[in-house]
Parts: sequence; C-alpha cells; structure tokens
Amino acid sequence: MEKVQALRQYLDTHRVKLVAVSKTKSLAEIRQVYANGQRIFGENRARELAEKQPGLPGDIEWHMIGHLQTNKVKYIAPFVAMIQSVDSLKLLDRIELDAGRAGRTIDVLLQVKIAREESKYGFELDTLPERIGQLTGGRRHVNVRGLMGMASFVDDEDVIRSEFRALKQLFDTLRSDHLARKQDFDTLSMGMSGDYRIAVEEGSTMVRIGSLIFGPRT
Ligand SMILES: *Cc1c(COP(=O)(O)O)cnc(C)c1O
Repeated sequence: MEKVQALRQYLDTHRVKLVAVSKTKSLAEIRQVYANGQRIFGENRARELAEKQPGLPGDIEWHMIGHLQTNKVKYIAPFVAMIQSVDSLKLLDRIELDAGRAGRTIDVLLQVKIAREESKYGFELDTLPERIGQLTGGRRHVNVRGLMGMASFVDDEDVIRSEFRALKQLFDTLRSDHLARKQDFDTLSMGMSGDYRIAVEEGSTMVRIGSLIFGPRT
C-alpha cells in the first residue's frame, strides 16, 4: 500500500486524479485500497460493476471505463459517477434516456482512437471537431466532461508519447475553440500502469491504474 501512497503523491503534485481500476478484483481487495483513502474506482464491465457496487461503501465514485452496450446502461445509470467510454452517438442517447429515468445527470468522456493498432471502439481523432456540437449539445441528463484515450501497447516510448500528445492537442483545440464557453470540459483521461508517467508529462488530468495498485490480473 506504500506503493499506492507514493503513486497518489506523485499524481497530487501534478493535480492528476487517480482512478483505481478494480476489474476482476474482489470486494475485500477493493476495501483494502479504499481503507487507504482511495475513493474513485473503475470497472470495465457493466454487470460486474452493478454486482459489486451495493457491497461497497456508498461514497465510492464509480467510473465505467470499458466498452458499454446500450442495453446495459440501465444497470449502472442509477449510481455511476462517470462513463469514460462513450464511443457512439447511439450510446450517448441511451445514457440520456436511462439517466433521465433514474432522475440523474451522468458525466461522460468521449473515447477517442489514438493507438496505431486497429481499435474497434472510439471516435476518430480527425472528425471529432466537426461532430462535437452534436455530441455535447441538447441533452439534459448527460454532461460531456472531456476525452479518454488509450495509447498503443508497445515498448516504444516515442510512439506512446506522440499518441498522448495528439489527444492533448485535440482536447486543447476543443476547449479553446468549439467548446470555449463550456467551462466544465476539463477532463483528459489518459495513462495506465505502464504509461502513466508519459501521460502525465503530456498533460493528462486523470489516470486509470489497475495492476500497479492491485497486482497483476489473473
Ligand atoms: C484495465 C484498464 C486499465 C488499467 O490497466 P492497468 O494496465 O492494469 O493499469 C485502464 N483503462 C482501461 C480502459 C482498462 O480496461
């Protein structure tokens, strides 16, 4: 747990939020990290998240970070704090519907494809600016707070750095231009166990870290 404290200290000095990724981990393991002061946790499957949430402290801020099918939004809409993996207009509209039914407004991030690997999910980097008005406007129960991206799974630091840099550039462009009047478009989620230092250097405001905190997943 000293590891977690050192990690949090590093992130605090850079004003970066830590999402502890607890997928596949037990309630007991999550409680241990909670006892060390961690309050934001992330899961990548809606059913797993919906099953774990009732058994854990109510002040945990839950983030959905994995691909979400529209028919599963209803399981997490009553409590989820943020959905980081919004990758289609269709999903955004479903969150609007299910959040409304739950009497809530849910913060979301738009997932953007930045990796050189062929990734299935996420908006295209090049075309997001022309779509951003349609994605951020006119919904009462969804609030688009920023962008999320995952770099390539490679050893080459330069590749990872240039992908994070491209996402930061898009984030800055949207903030200063298209969304200049939207003060709360303030979150750039990038960086995982293997590449969070590069992400922080490139301007991340939120990292999603699993194995470094919980140990490797089996
Ligand atoms: C699993 C996962 C993480 C955390 O991965 P680690 O390498 O264990 O830190 C971060 N983001 C997403 C979207 C994930 O699915």
